[in-house]
Amino acid sequence: MFDKILVANRGEIALRIIRAAREMGIGTVAVHSTADADAMHVRMADESVCIGPPSAAQSYLSFPAIISACEVTGAQAIHPGYGFLSENSSFVQIVEDHEIVFIGPKADHIRVMGDKITAKETMRALGVPCVPGSEGGVPDLEAARASAADIGYPVIVKATAGGGGRGMKLARTAEDLESAFQTARSEAKAAFGNDEVYLEKYLGTPRHIEVQVFGDGRGRAVHLGERDCSLQRRHQKVLEEAPGPTITPEERAEIGRICADAVARIDYIGAGTIEFLYENGQFYFIEMNTRLQVEHPVTEAVFGVDLVREQIRVAAGLPMEFEQADLAIRGHAIEVRINAEKLPSFSPSPGRITQYHAPGGLGVRMDSALYDGYRIPPYYDSLIGKLIVHGRDRPEALARLSRALGELIVDGVDTTVPLFHALLQESAVQTGDYNIHWLENWLETNL
Ligand code: ADP
Repeated sequence: MFDKILVANRGEIALRIIRAAREMGIGTVAVHSTADADAMHVRMADESVCIGPPSAAQSYLSFPAIISACEVTGAQAIHPGYGFLSENSSFVQIVEDHEIVFIGPKADHIRVMGDKITAKETMRALGVPCVPGSEGGVPDLEAARASAADIGYPVIVKATAGGGGRGMKLARTAEDLESAFQTARSEAKAAFGNDEVYLEKYLGTPRHIEVQVFGDGRGRAVHLGERDCSLQRRHQKVLEEAPGPTITPEERAEIGRICADAVARIDYIGAGTIEFLYENGQFYFIEMNTRLQVEHPVTEAVFGVDLVREQIRVAAGLPMEFEQADLAIRGHAIEVRINAEKLPSFSPSPGRITQYHAPGGLGVRMDSALYDGYRIPPYYDSLIGKLIVHGRDRPEALARLSRALGELIVDGVDTTVPLFHALLQESAVQTGDYNIHWLENWLETNL
């Protein structure tokens, strides 16, 4: 096992990793920008290294700064968390070239899954059901027209390098296609430096269902059921739960087996998430994330596992601590993402926290790097905490969420907490009867 690992991230996920490492008796190195000198992850780690100015490009995304921090402190491995360098295959390659262990998948797997066209081709070949769409990329408008006619409208134009919901445009009819195609291309070029796009059938009322997989890198892999992340704003998740309220045990076993087999066959190592749209009882693959997800705690809650501990173990060459037969779901878990944002515009609301009180009690987990007097810097994303509740069933989890939100105090900045209080009153949320468009429609009339 490693003596010391470096955590190449900040905020709640950096704390999450430091906590797992400490329980395993592993030393931790935090890295931080000058804007984060008094951040909680710096206080909580055994050692810390300042890696640059506030701009993420010059700090949390700087290869040389992070590699030097590893070398200076003697850390043997790097955990990237999510975001930043977690899915950057060039970074992973350089880490490996320096004989440092990357706690995550191999660079090749990240590269293949990071390009949505090659990801889809790979998954289809591995027997995973995909959304009907173009054969690979569409180079020009003419090709797009031909492909859309084949697929049938409505279609969605998507960037192969896409992420965070950017570079995605809907064309309801043939008349919309030209502008959807051009806008998706220019957005993709601006956001990712790659303007390649492809087409997919646009599904009208799907749910977002994603399967958690875990591999040992040596041909063994398991699945840990699914998460339903259908409550989205601008293609970004707002609330996630496990298990999916509409997924039957038979469906779970079948799609889970398909996913676990697929990653086992490519010797995938560590945690991964295979994302699907789910409509009329069918699963359609959209993308794979080769990292720990923001919403991993709901899976941890219902399966009683520590995914970060497992990531560290397999990266160190140890076997997984569980087999498929050991994994069973107990109860129901829900996570809400608490952002420092002002409603109804969701504009960022950085600033000083004058009072912070985390909820507690049975079945409540609060993952947050906030503390009294902390100043949220304006440079990074607005997620300030995740509240995760676990109950014996979905109604109990909902009641617990409402109770825990009532205990939470975050004063000094605006947060998305009032959104969740309001959502919990909705019968669609209480019954789980919604699709990926429900929240957008609700926001239009209720905020
Ligand atoms: P990103 O990597 O930018 O998050 P995804 O491919 O994961 O992009 O898609 C994000 C979200 O966009 C999905 O959860 C869904 O809400 C919507 N979406 C993507 N593809 C389709 C599609 N073919 N039909 C309808 N909605 C889609």
